[in-house]
Amino acid sequence: MTAGDPSKLDRVLAEARRNAEKREQSYREQALKIYPWICGRCGREFTHANLRELTVHHRDHNHDNNPADGSNWELLCLYCHDNEHQRQLEAAGGGTNVREDRRVATHSPFANLKSLLADKKSK
Ligand SMILES: [Zn+2]
Ligand SMILES: [Zn+2]
Repeated sequence: MTAGDPSKLDRVLAEARRNAEKREQSYREQALKIYPWICGRCGREFTHANLRELTVHHRDHNHDNNPADGSNWELLCLYCHDNEHQRQLEAAGGGTNVREDRRVATHSPFANLKSLLADKKSK
């Protein structure tokens, strides 16, 4: 039994998370160096005070695709970033997916209720 070393797993997970955060910080920093601090959609300007609300959007939606010339990045404010992804979902025929999600979401509480009722009856 050598597979179950929880502390090692914790360390590996923590490191993976740290690496992901580091990568995100570094492409954000690079993007902020390359591009002016302006939302690419609504033109809102940013300063150090509100820079947190300026986010890096990946044009091809692949967060692993981070070319050094910034060609896959676009600076968007939180609001426009949300809109951008919403539009992408709809363009990709996301309507079906949304319905699917809702069906699953409304289904599970009833399943739970049923088992609760069954539980009461059996007692
Ligand atoms: Zn914006
Ligand atoms: Zn994005």
